[in-house]
Amino acid sequence: MYLFKIIFSSLILISVCSFAQERKMQVIPGSVQIVESDSKHDHQKQDHKHKEHNHKDHGHKDHSRREHKAHTHGVVKINIAIENSTIEAEIKVPSLHIIGTESAKLSVNEINAEKNIVSFFKNVELFQIFSEAKCQIKEVESEKDLHGDHAEFDLDLKWTCVDTNKIKKISVLWNQVLKSFANQHKIKFVAVEQIEISVLKGNDVKTKKLNDKQNFIEL
Ligand SMILES: [Zn+2]
Repeated sequence: MYLFKIIFSSLILISVCSFAQERKMQVIPGSVQIVESDSKHDHQKQDHKHKEHNHKDHGHKDHSRREHKAHTHGVVKINIAIENSTIEAEIKVPSLHIIGTESAKLSVNEINAEKNIVSFFKNVELFQIFSEAKCQIKEVESEKDLHGDHAEFDLDLKWTCVDTNKIKKISVLWNQVLKSFANQHKIKFVAVEQIEISVLKGNDVKTKKLNDKQNFIEL
Protein backbone atom coordinates (compact mmCIF):
# COMPACT_ATOMS: atom_id res chain seq x y z
CA MET A 1 0.00 0.00 0.00
CA TYR A 2 2.86 2.36 0.93
CA LEU A 3 4.63 1.55 -2.34
CA PHE A 4 1.42 2.28 -4.21
CA LYS A 5 1.25 5.71 -2.53
CA ILE A 6 4.78 6.54 -3.69
CA ILE A 7 4.02 5.51 -7.25
CA PHE A 8 0.76 7.43 -7.22
CA SER A 9 2.30 10.65 -5.92
CA SER A 10 5.15 10.51 -8.39
CA LEU A 11 2.57 10.08 -11.15
CA ILE A 12 0.91 13.29 -9.93
CA LEU A 13 4.29 15.01 -9.87
CA ILE A 14 5.02 13.92 -13.43
CA SER A 15 1.68 15.18 -14.69
CA VAL A 16 2.14 18.52 -12.92
CA CYS A 17 5.54 18.87 -14.57
CA SER A 18 4.23 18.10 -18.03
CA PHE A 19 1.37 20.55 -17.48
CA ALA A 20 3.89 23.25 -16.65
CA GLN A 21 5.86 22.31 -19.72
CA GLU A 22 2.78 22.64 -21.87
CA ARG A 23 2.17 26.09 -20.45
CA LYS A 24 5.73 27.03 -21.22
CA MET A 25 5.23 25.86 -24.78
CA GLN A 26 2.15 28.06 -25.09
CA VAL A 27 4.15 31.16 -24.26
CA ILE A 28 6.49 30.66 -27.20
CA PRO A 29 3.95 30.84 -30.04
CA GLY A 30 2.48 33.90 -28.31
CA SER A 31 5.70 35.87 -28.62
CA VAL A 32 6.18 34.70 -32.19
CA GLN A 33 2.77 36.13 -32.98
CA ILE A 34 3.90 39.55 -31.82
CA VAL A 35 6.73 39.40 -34.33
CA GLU A 36 4.25 38.47 -37.03
CA SER A 37 1.98 41.40 -36.30
CA ASP A 38 5.14 43.49 -36.44
CA SER A 39 5.81 42.51 -39.98
CA LYS A 40 2.35 43.74 -40.95
CA HIS A 41 3.72 47.18 -40.31
CA ASP A 42 6.72 46.55 -42.45
CA HIS A 43 6.12 47.91 -45.88
CA GLN A 44 8.93 46.08 -47.51
CA LYS A 45 7.34 42.79 -46.73
CA GLN A 46 3.90 43.77 -47.91
CA ASP A 47 2.56 46.91 -49.44
CA HIS A 48 -1.16 46.47 -48.99
CA LYS A 49 -1.45 46.78 -45.28
CA HIS A 50 -4.55 48.92 -45.46
CA LYS A 51 -6.49 46.15 -47.15
CA GLU A 52 -6.12 43.75 -44.27
CA HIS A 53 -6.15 46.52 -41.75
CA ASN A 54 -9.63 47.67 -40.94
CA HIS A 55 -9.43 51.33 -40.12
CA LYS A 56 -12.45 51.23 -37.87
CA ASP A 57 -10.69 49.00 -35.40
CA HIS A 58 -7.38 50.53 -36.05
CA GLY A 59 -5.52 48.41 -33.56
CA HIS A 60 -5.07 51.14 -30.99
CA LYS A 61 -6.33 48.95 -28.25
CA ASP A 62 -4.49 45.89 -29.40
CA HIS A 63 -1.19 46.36 -27.68
CA SER A 64 0.64 43.60 -29.52
CA ARG A 65 0.51 45.73 -32.64
CA ARG A 66 2.46 48.33 -30.78
CA GLU A 67 5.51 46.12 -30.42
CA HIS A 68 8.29 47.00 -32.79
CA LYS A 69 11.54 45.81 -34.01
CA ALA A 70 14.21 48.51 -34.22
CA HIS A 71 13.35 51.34 -36.56
CA THR A 72 15.76 52.94 -39.01
CA HIS A 73 17.03 56.41 -38.25
CA GLY A 74 16.55 58.73 -41.20
CA VAL A 75 13.41 56.96 -42.38
CA VAL A 76 9.77 57.85 -41.84
CA LYS A 77 7.05 55.45 -42.92
CA ILE A 78 3.71 56.79 -44.07
CA ASN A 79 0.68 54.72 -45.01
CA ILE A 80 -2.25 56.57 -46.50
CA ALA A 81 -5.67 55.13 -47.20
CA ILE A 82 -8.19 57.07 -49.29
CA GLU A 83 -11.69 55.76 -49.09
CA ASN A 84 -14.76 57.67 -50.32
CA SER A 85 -14.57 61.02 -48.59
CA THR A 86 -12.02 60.13 -45.94
CA ILE A 87 -8.27 59.99 -45.84
CA GLU A 88 -6.31 58.32 -43.09
CA ALA A 89 -2.58 58.45 -42.61
CA GLU A 90 -0.47 56.42 -40.26
CA ILE A 91 3.00 57.77 -39.69
CA LYS A 92 5.78 55.87 -37.95
CA VAL A 93 8.84 57.89 -37.20
CA PRO A 94 11.78 57.65 -34.79
CA SER A 95 11.40 60.28 -32.03
CA LEU A 96 14.74 61.64 -33.18
CA HIS A 97 13.01 63.23 -36.18
CA ILE A 98 10.22 64.86 -34.17
CA ILE A 99 11.65 66.00 -30.86
CA GLY A 100 15.33 65.67 -31.81
CA THR A 101 16.10 62.90 -29.33
CA GLU A 102 15.19 59.37 -28.31
CA SER A 103 16.49 59.73 -24.79
CA ALA A 104 14.17 58.95 -21.89
CA LYS A 105 15.38 62.13 -20.20
CA LEU A 106 13.86 65.10 -21.94
CA SER A 107 14.58 68.79 -21.55
CA VAL A 108 11.76 71.21 -20.71
CA ASN A 109 11.60 72.27 -24.37
CA GLU A 110 11.45 68.69 -25.56
CA ILE A 111 8.67 67.89 -23.10
CA ASN A 112 6.74 70.92 -24.33
CA ALA A 113 7.26 69.92 -27.94
CA GLU A 114 6.02 66.43 -27.21
CA LYS A 115 2.86 67.84 -25.63
CA ASN A 116 2.20 69.95 -28.71
CA ILE A 117 2.55 67.25 -31.36
CA VAL A 118 -1.20 66.71 -31.77
CA SER A 119 -2.09 70.39 -32.05
CA PHE A 120 0.85 70.96 -34.42
CA PHE A 121 -0.23 68.22 -36.83
CA LYS A 122 -3.81 69.48 -36.66
CA ASN A 123 -2.74 72.85 -37.96
CA VAL A 124 -0.01 72.09 -40.42
CA GLU A 125 -0.28 70.96 -44.03
CA LEU A 126 2.15 68.10 -44.12
CA PHE A 127 0.44 66.77 -47.26
CA GLN A 128 -0.16 69.94 -49.19
CA ILE A 129 -2.07 68.39 -52.01
CA PHE A 130 -5.10 67.55 -49.86
CA SER A 131 -6.27 71.14 -50.14
CA GLU A 132 -7.35 70.53 -53.78
CA ALA A 133 -9.85 67.99 -52.57
CA LYS A 134 -11.00 70.42 -49.86
CA CYS A 135 -9.98 68.17 -47.01
CA GLN A 136 -10.28 69.09 -43.39
CA ILE A 137 -8.35 67.44 -40.66
CA LYS A 138 -10.62 65.72 -38.16
CA GLU A 139 -8.45 63.68 -35.86
CA VAL A 140 -4.85 63.42 -34.80
CA GLU A 141 -3.59 60.80 -32.40
CA SER A 142 -0.05 60.46 -31.19
CA GLU A 143 1.49 57.56 -29.33
CA LYS A 144 5.06 57.14 -28.25
CA ASP A 145 6.54 53.66 -28.15
CA LEU A 146 9.73 52.89 -26.32
CA HIS A 147 11.88 49.95 -27.24
CA GLY A 148 15.29 49.56 -25.71
CA ASP A 149 17.26 52.76 -26.22
CA HIS A 150 14.92 53.83 -28.98
CA ALA A 151 11.67 55.73 -29.07
CA GLU A 152 9.23 56.11 -31.90
CA PHE A 153 6.09 58.09 -32.59
CA ASP A 154 3.06 56.55 -34.15
CA LEU A 155 0.79 59.27 -35.50
CA ASP A 156 -2.67 58.71 -36.90
CA LEU A 157 -4.30 61.49 -38.87
CA LYS A 158 -7.74 61.56 -40.37
CA TRP A 159 -9.36 63.97 -42.83
CA THR A 160 -12.74 64.28 -44.44
CA CYS A 161 -12.86 65.73 -47.93
CA VAL A 162 -15.35 67.18 -50.39
CA ASP A 163 -13.90 65.25 -53.35
CA THR A 164 -11.04 62.79 -52.95
CA ASN A 165 -11.09 62.10 -56.73
CA LYS A 166 -9.34 65.43 -57.17
CA ILE A 167 -6.26 64.00 -55.53
CA LYS A 168 -3.87 63.08 -58.31
CA LYS A 169 -0.66 63.36 -56.38
CA ILE A 170 0.42 63.73 -52.79
CA SER A 171 3.39 65.84 -51.75
CA VAL A 172 5.02 65.29 -48.39
CA LEU A 173 6.83 68.25 -46.88
CA TRP A 174 8.25 66.36 -43.94
CA ASN A 175 11.58 68.10 -43.31
CA GLN A 176 10.22 71.57 -44.05
CA VAL A 177 7.30 71.14 -41.67
CA LEU A 178 9.21 69.40 -38.88
CA LYS A 179 11.97 71.97 -39.06
CA SER A 180 9.45 74.66 -38.27
CA PHE A 181 8.18 72.54 -35.37
CA ALA A 182 11.71 72.30 -33.99
CA ASN A 183 12.24 76.03 -34.41
CA GLN A 184 8.99 76.84 -32.64
CA HIS A 185 9.99 74.75 -29.64
CA LYS A 186 13.72 75.53 -29.71
CA ILE A 187 14.69 71.89 -29.99
CA LYS A 188 17.16 70.06 -32.21
CA PHE A 189 16.02 69.26 -35.74
CA VAL A 190 17.20 66.04 -37.35
CA ALA A 191 16.12 65.70 -40.98
CA VAL A 192 14.94 62.41 -42.46
CA GLU A 193 16.63 61.11 -45.61
CA GLN A 194 13.81 58.98 -46.84
CA ILE A 195 10.03 58.86 -46.67
CA GLU A 196 8.60 55.46 -47.46
CA ILE A 197 5.06 56.15 -48.54
CA SER A 198 2.26 53.87 -49.57
CA VAL A 199 -1.12 55.08 -50.74
CA LEU A 200 -4.17 52.89 -50.99
CA LYS A 201 -7.02 54.22 -53.12
CA GLY A 202 -9.80 51.85 -54.03
CA ASN A 203 -7.98 48.60 -54.74
CA ASP A 204 -4.89 50.37 -55.96
CA VAL A 205 -1.75 50.54 -53.86
CA LYS A 206 1.11 52.79 -54.84
CA THR A 207 4.41 52.87 -53.00
CA LYS A 208 7.38 55.16 -53.40
CA LYS A 209 10.50 56.29 -51.60
CA LEU A 210 10.52 60.05 -51.32
CA ASN A 211 13.11 62.61 -50.29
CA ASP A 212 13.44 66.40 -50.32
CA LYS A 213 14.05 66.52 -54.09
CA GLN A 214 11.50 63.91 -55.07
CA ASN A 215 8.75 64.77 -52.64
CA PHE A 216 5.55 63.56 -54.26
CA ILE A 217 3.78 60.40 -55.29
CA GLU A 218 1.36 60.30 -58.21
CA LEU A 219 -1.82 58.29 -57.88
ZN1 LIG B 1 16.05 55.00 -32.65
